[in-house]
Amino acid sequence: MSGSHPLRCRCGKFQALVDHPGRGTRAVCYCRDCQAFAHFLGHPPGMLDAHGGTDIVAVRPRDVRFVQGFEQLACMSLTPKGTLRWFTRCCRTPIGNTARDWKISHVGLVHTALEGEGSDLAAAFGPVRMRVNRQGARGKPEASRPLTFFAAMARYMAGLAWSRVSGKYRANPFFDSATGEPKVQPQVLSLEEHRRLKAEVDAAAGA
Ligand SMILES: [Zn+2]
Ligand SMILES: [Zn+2]
Repeated sequence: MSGSHPLRCRCGKFQALVDHPGRGTRAVCYCRDCQAFAHFLGHPPGMLDAHGGTDIVAVRPRDVRFVQGFEQLACMSLTPKGTLRWFTRCCRTPIGNTARDWKISHVGLVHTALEGEGSDLAAAFGPVRMRVNRQGARGKPEASRPLTFFAAMARYMAGLAWSRVSGKYRANPFFDSATGEPKVQPQVLSLEEHRRLKAEVDAAAGA
């Protein structure tokens, strides 16, 4: 698949492009932390599926190009050492998740920011290859096919390793290329806020 794929918030202030969409890997994550992120944002339309899963496209951060509205980008984390979760201030659209350590050259883009008019996720990024953290799901979502899962995982891990040894991880629009610090200071939830959010998620999951 050629061409870049648009990445944007609901209101359109924030816009970016994803180059080489064919290199992306789609996964659905059912973990309670991703569900907590949805609660934190005020339940963005379409973010979670019926089982509480988030459809995520893992891409190389260097394939993401910010076009406009960078000042709308905000960052949060459920815990002091947790995943960095990026969203927009303007309309609280989830954008993606990164590790805290930029040497892990990963950004998991949230599907809703990739689903503009006329865009077809499967055509651009391929089918969902992995379903992870199913123990956090509501009900019983379908499982990944083992061969598909391991092939996708192997390709993804090889990409991570290559980014690390080649130094290409330094090209990452979410992090400062000199210091390796996130470009937006993450808002870390207090223990109390995190507990409250978790209780909400567990109540919604009926567990
Ligand atoms: Zn917006
Ligand atoms: Zn998750």
